[in-house]
Amino acid sequence: MSVQEILNQIHTSISARSDRGEVATYIPELASVDPGHFGLAVALADGKHYTVGDAEIPFSIQSISKVFTLALALGMVGDKLWERVGREPSGNAFNSILQLEREQGIPRNPFINPGAIVVTDVILASSSPAETLAELVNFIRYAADDGNIYINEAVALSEKTTGHRNFALAHFLRSFNNLTHEPELTLGTYFHQCAIEMSCRQLALAGRFLINAPGVPQLISPDRVRRINALMITCGHYDASGDFAYKVGLPGKSGVGGGILVIVPGKAAIAVWSPGLTAQGNSLLGTEAVQALAQRMDWSVFG
Ligand code: GLU
Repeated sequence: MSVQEILNQIHTSISARSDRGEVATYIPELASVDPGHFGLAVALADGKHYTVGDAEIPFSIQSISKVFTLALALGMVGDKLWERVGREPSGNAFNSILQLEREQGIPRNPFINPGAIVVTDVILASSSPAETLAELVNFIRYAADDGNIYINEAVALSEKTTGHRNFALAHFLRSFNNLTHEPELTLGTYFHQCAIEMSCRQLALAGRFLINAPGVPQLISPDRVRRINALMITCGHYDASGDFAYKVGLPGKSGVGGGILVIVPGKAAIAVWSPGLTAQGNSLLGTEAVQALAQRMDWSVFG
C-alpha cells in the first residue's frame, strides 16, 4: 500500500472519532479553534511529501517552536546551554512552578516552559526581540523552503495578557539569576515564537532538518540533530513523554495548538494537527494518528 493510501485510511478512521480531547482554553485565542480539524503530512528526506485532511491550514505551532529555538541556542552557545537548563524528563506539568523552585531555578529540560524561556533568553543575547524573531522565522522558512510562514500577533497578544503562569516562571528564573533579560522582554519574544503558524505540510518539510539523511537541508551538524532527537523522545511530550515513546517509538514534540512534529531518523518528518488535547496538553487524535502511521510504515527508533 502506498504512503498516500495509508494516510487516507488514517484520515478516514480519525474523522469518525467523536472523542477528540479538549481544545486549549487558557490561551483565549486558541479556545475558538474548531476541534474537528485534522491534518497529516509526511515529508521524505528528498522533499517528496504526502498530505491528507486539513494539511494546508496554518495552525499555532506553540511549543513545537521550542525545537527550532533549541537548535538556534545550541548554535550560539553550544554545550554552555546545559549550565542553565537540564536534560532530564520532568515528570511534571509543562508549566510547573513547584519543580522550578525545588531545583533552584535550573529547569529540567529545554521543552518545559521554564526551560524554553531560558532558551529564548539565550537566543535574545544582545539582539532586539524583533531581530531574534526575524532570525527564527527565517530559519524556519529556510528549513521549510517556504516564505509563507508568519507570526499570528493576535495569538501572541492573547497569551501575553493571560500568561500569568509564564510570568511567574520567568520571575522565578530571574530571582535565581537564570534570566539575563527583563522577564517582559524574554516573554514577549517567547509568546511570539509560540504564535508562529504553519500548516502540516510546512511543518513536515521544515522538520526535515532533523532527519539526518542525504538530501535534507543541513542547517545544523549531524551530531546536534541526534541530540535534539534524543531530547524530543525523552522530553517532547511533557509528563506523557514515556507514553509517547512507548506508543509511537519516535522522537516528537507537541504543542498546545494540537500539532505534533515527529522525526523518523534517516527517513522522514511527520506533522499532524488535531486541536483537541489530553490532560497533559498533547494532541489526543494526533498521537493516535502518528501511532497508526508509525505502525503501518514500520517506523521506530527501537528496531
Ligand atoms: N505558549 C504555550 C505556553 O507557554 C506553549 C505550551 C505548549 O504548547 O505546550 O503555555
